Amino acid sequence: MLNLTSIVRKNIQSLVPYSSARDEFKGTDAIFLDANENPFGSLNRYPDPYQRTLKELIADQQNIDSSSIFIGNGSDEVIDLLFRIFCEPNQDKVLTFGPTYGMYQVSADINAVELIEVPLTEQFDIDATSVLPILSDPSLKMIFICYPNNPTGNCFSETEIIQLLENFNGVVLLDEAYIDFSDKPSWNRQIAKFPNLIVCQTFSKAKGLAAARVGIAFAQQAIIQLLNNVKPPYNVSQLNQEAAIQCLENIDKVNQEIALIKDNRSFLQNQLEKLSIIKRIYPSQANFILAEVTDADSVYNQLTRQGIIPRNRSKIIPNCIRFTIGTTDEVTALINALKQLS
Ligand SMILES: *Cc1c(COP(=O)(O)O)cnc(C)c1O
Repeated sequence: MLNLTSIVRKNIQSLVPYSSARDEFKGTDAIFLDANENPFGSLNRYPDPYQRTLKELIADQQNIDSSSIFIGNGSDEVIDLLFRIFCEPNQDKVLTFGPTYGMYQVSADINAVELIEVPLTEQFDIDATSVLPILSDPSLKMIFICYPNNPTGNCFSETEIIQLLENFNGVVLLDEAYIDFSDKPSWNRQIAKFPNLIVCQTFSKAKGLAAARVGIAFAQQAIIQLLNNVKPPYNVSQLNQEAAIQCLENIDKVNQEIALIKDNRSFLQNQLEKLSIIKRIYPSQANFILAEVTDADSVYNQLTRQGIIPRNRSKIIPNCIRFTIGTTDEVTALINALKQLS
């Protein structure tokens, strides 16, 4: 059972959060003389600090209670806030399974928290049993799981994730940045069952709003409350909120784009299989494919010289390159360039 008082930092437990003008008066139709705003203009008012319209849309579409939703300035903000809520600098630790998303390490470093990176198995899965002995360390506060995993592209076994959730008295963040490209349901269905589960999603990938910076966290209300207490009062700008609302109001368009990207993913996978310089292709549940080549640095340099920029991951997985799935024209250009190298 999760005991929040034993894992939340003392200064956060005793924090008196900033109370904004918009916290204290919530009506809309009034003469606003409370926030020292300029009365003229169209972006002159502070935005809704709790992004209610956006949350209602997410709640409707994902069939989840809006009180279980937090909106961040990108999911990177959610990750940083979780460090600040749960981890005492120079004392606490977090755990992840690598190779994985690089921001967990950077965010840990910024917050002076040690990140333990346990290697994934040969099949890039989690081995929960191997970490069970560390889970009882009281200084271990969080586990980061990227699902589907960046850069390997796969989803980990559900039984391994459940074993971690059930045996850990800290929080588990499931980062679902790529869930819309996978054939798995979101773990946000499971937050009622697991009080220590936090699921985060983003508008940056499938939803096509990387420039807007909007991330979502789903969790039980006690954790959502902590995130609200610690966030900057107006963390998501009016422009960002509007962009995200517009996206969800046109969700059919997003779904069509996702379907096309998944078609292009199969197309790229099939074409890569025919090339002799490709040694191994990792099956992907995301909008990228990780492939092993004979010499990643050379392939990377030759592609970039032709104006095609993949992500060279050879420093973390030998000779591996990650290709984002672009438009059909972009995928075709990539294949043609690779054929010339073959
Ligand atoms: C791209 C990505 C994100 C997105 O972060 P934002 O701050 O929402 O843009 C989060 N997690 C993973 C694993 C990613 O690859």
